[in-house]
Amino acid sequence: MQSNSPTMIAPGATIGILGGGQLEKMTALAASHLGYRTCILCPEGDNPAALVSNNIIISHYDNKDNLSNFSNSSEVMTLCFENIDDAVVEALAKQGRIYPGAEIIRIAQHRLREKAYFREHGVQTADFYPVHSLAELETGVRSLPQGCGLLKSCRFGYDGKGQYKIDLGTDLAEIWAQAGFEEAVLEAWVPFKTEVSAIVARSTNGEMRAFPVAENTHREGILHTSRVPAQVPHAVAEQAQAITLQLAEALDVVGLLTVEFFALEDGTLLANEMAPRPHNSGHWTMDGCVTSQFEQLVRAICGLPLGAVEVTVPVTMENLLGEDVLHYATQLADPAVRLYIYGKQGLRPGRKTGHINRLHLSPRAE
Ligand code: AMP
Repeated sequence: MQSNSPTMIAPGATIGILGGGQLEKMTALAASHLGYRTCILCPEGDNPAALVSNNIIISHYDNKDNLSNFSNSSEVMTLCFENIDDAVVEALAKQGRIYPGAEIIRIAQHRLREKAYFREHGVQTADFYPVHSLAELETGVRSLPQGCGLLKSCRFGYDGKGQYKIDLGTDLAEIWAQAGFEEAVLEAWVPFKTEVSAIVARSTNGEMRAFPVAENTHREGILHTSRVPAQVPHAVAEQAQAITLQLAEALDVVGLLTVEFFALEDGTLLANEMAPRPHNSGHWTMDGCVTSQFEQLVRAICGLPLGAVEVTVPVTMENLLGEDVLHYATQLADPAVRLYIYGKQGLRPGRKTGHINRLHLSPRAE
């Protein structure tokens, strides 16, 4: 019999998941599928992950007693968001195993640190300028080609939130006052041809796998669709995977690392941002890949062999926002559609409330 790795955590153990959103829900379901139990810690009880977890600790992330309870209940812990005080992750790391670690979170939660990290590792990005004042914004804008760019908050920006488009003639004083940013980054506008993302898994024993890259479209800064296979040259897809593998190794990631890229007309890739966790652009793997990103995360943090990443059927993932999930009957009537409803309380416009995977099934040969 093959000897188990010393770090292998066997099915039956409890995986602690910090947070209670849809990524945590789908991770808990994948864990359960492999025979693990889950314990979540999250500030509110009424959330997607609470619907499917074995044990729920309702608590703010800074409550030391509850964090200790959480780590004591879990053989291994994970989290699927970066906007958390890294001291919380550091404290949990002293009590047990947690992936991703505090250092990766610190880099990925801060746009300037993230871009600096990309550049230090030879990964190209859009031109950018750190901005802490109106004067710095004005200086940065003067350096932008055609004066076009995006002002982004260094922290707490997601789904296009905390971003302001800058064009020739934009009133910079007004934008700066309106934004109220303490620390921001001004990015040159990128005339990209396509956007792609690559997700790689790296396990506790260093095994690595890269999922096929997805081709993404956004609407108002929010991911709209992810399509696989991506309609990009093979070399571009391969390079996106290679860069993500390189970064995962450099960051000593255990779990998943996602990198989002802009692909230019000439095939150049510019890294936009990264996330050390399952990613919305990887939801296609739930129906179009041998192993889903969520199962791969569980395998990686438990030291199990990583799963195969071959595409089983071409698929387009489409996000459902707000009340889009109310059209479930129509979506379910379509034989090519797989529907996921997260079970969030409140269907606010723009909020991710579900997604569909549209399978591009080939017509059956007669
Ligand atoms: P982000 O929050 O940085 O992921 O941005 C959300 C989306 O806005 C991206 O996926 C792009 O579609 C668009 N975007 C962000 N930054 C730029 C940029 N510098 N140039 C052009 N489009 C951008």
